[in-house]
Parts: sequence; C-alpha cells; structure tokens
Amino acid sequence: MTKFSIAIHGGAGTILKKDMTPELEAEYRNALKQALDAGYAVLENGGAALNAVKAAVVMMEDNVLFNAGKGSVFTKKGLNEMDAAIMDGSTLNAGAVAGVRNIRNPVELAEEVMLHSGHVFLSGKGANDFAIKQGIKLEPDEYFYSEYRYDQWREIRDSDLYKLDHKSDKLIGLMKDKKFGTVGAVACDGNGTVAAATSTGGMTNKRYGRIGDSPMIGVGTYANNKTCAISCTGHGEIFIKAVAAYDVSCLMEYKNFSLQQACEEVVLKKLVHLQGEGGLIGVDAKGNTALVFNSAGMYRGFKNSDGENGIAIYGN
Ligand code: ASP
Repeated sequence: MTKFSIAIHGGAGTILKKDMTPELEAEYRNALKQALDAGYAVLENGGAALNAVKAAVVMMEDNVLFNAGKGSVFTKKGLNEMDAAIMDGSTLNAGAVAGVRNIRNPVELAEEVMLHSGHVFLSGKGANDFAIKQGIKLEPDEYFYSEYRYDQWREIRDSDLYKLDHKSDKLIGLMKDKKFGTVGAVACDGNGTVAAATSTGGMTNKRYGRIGDSPMIGVGTYANNKTCAISCTGHGEIFIKAVAAYDVSCLMEYKNFSLQQACEEVVLKKLVHLQGEGGLIGVDAKGNTALVFNSAGMYRGFKNSDGENGIAIYGN
C-alpha cells in the first residue's frame, strides 16, 4: 500500500491577515478542516481517491464561505452559474459541467457526466436537463443567495467590471478584485491512484456565458497516475492560456521534474510571467503533495497517512 494523502484549496488571492477578523479566520480554518477530514476519512477507510476528492469538494460547496455551490457569486444578470470538473488518474476518465444553475453540488453532476452521459463536458441548459434526468439534487435560487455575494455584485453590476471573489480595492484590467474563492481537492489513495476535482461560481458580474479554467480538463483540473493530480485556482483566463494543470503533468512526464519542481515552474515562473495570479495543489502517485501559489495567500490544507498535516491561509 502506498502512502495516501489529500490536499485541498478554497481559493487564492489577496488574502491578508490585516483584512481578516479572528472569528472569520477561525471559520475558514474550521471549514477547511471539515473538508480535509471528510476526504481523508474516505482514504482511511480504503476508499478511492475519486471519492475522497468528491467528499472534500461537496463539503466546501455546501459552505457559504466559498465561491462554489451554495456560496457561488452572481453573474451580470444576477444569477448563479457554476462550473465543476472531476478526473480519475487511473483511467483518465473525466467529467465536467459549465454554466449550470440550481445544482446543489456541481461536482456530483460532473461525476455523473463522467459515468453516465457518454460525454466529458456538458454546458448550460443541456447539463441542467441531464441533471434532472439523473436525479441530481437541485436547489431553488434562494439557496444560493448570500448577502455578502449579493453586495459584491450590486457594487459593480452596472459596470463592465468583473470580479474574482471576496473584496479588494485593486484593479487588474477589467477586474476589480484579486481573490479567488474556487474550491478544489486532489488525492492519492492506498493503491497509488490519483484524482482531482474543482468547483466554482466563477467571477462576480461575469457575462456572455463566460467559463473559466476550473472545469476545463488539463487547465484547472487534471489527473494521471503516471504523473499527478492537479486542481487550480486563480485568474482563469490566464490559467487557460497557460494550460496550467497539464503543464505540470508534462514537466513530470517528459522532463522528469518532481511534483514540487513542476508546480513551482508553472506557478512561480510561467504564470508569473503571464501575470496570472493564483495557485494550485497537486499530488503524485506516491502520495507526495504540493501547495504552491504566487498570490498573497491561498486557503489550503493537506493530510497524509504518515501523520503529516496542515491548514494555512497566508503566504510565508
Ligand atoms: N479560476 C476561477 C475562474 O477563473 C476563479 C477562482 O479560482 O476563484 O473561474
């Protein structure tokens, strides 16, 4: 049996201690711990990496603190449109959804796409129709309402600005924010199989059916037993141009980089060069984990069967 391990993120960006109250920090830490424990419990009971990442992501989708599922941000039209993906590194089977509405747990719908649609990636109304057919849990619009997200949206809904979660006074191009609340998990189970999952509400005030990197296989989410499993968070448009997750895998496959080296190459060099702020988490098939970001902070945690674990928010 290999070492088993899990890593999670709850978004990266301008997350600074000075902007955080002790109470809110405790809430985030607690939420990360719950998600980590839920995923780790699956691995400890001999479960598959795929089920571990799903369990961790579902936990965060159900928590209003994160920009995924319940806490998803509002679009230009005042709706919640969510993206998610899941991938199994042993088979390269993958499922993804984009722009889905009223789905309680988009990661579960992504898995359903993988298992029962005959396709990999479904979007919009078609994906919602598939969810209804498969009996996926739905929620009314009110379930996705939170005052915090609504106020974020109200502030900019009459402008062309779009915003990457939480509040910040910084402007990047059209964006008026630099925090990314997407959630994700990667895991390696006792059989040395890796898996990744990512889920997001995308960006406040997004329009025209904008889709970010999170649900794109090889960009925000990727898993391959030969190399690693990766889940990203950050400025989606740049992560798409960098083909971020698959790039980490390629550096390991073709250049023999270690997981940590490959993650650093992509996040600290390539993405920095492209001005792509954010980070990613990774695991290899030996159970090693890497949590790398080029932003001020990233909500994150890891736990493995060697008894090592940690939860952190800010940079060093
Ligand atoms: N990467 C996500 C997107 O661009 C945002 C995030 O990570 O919070 O949709």
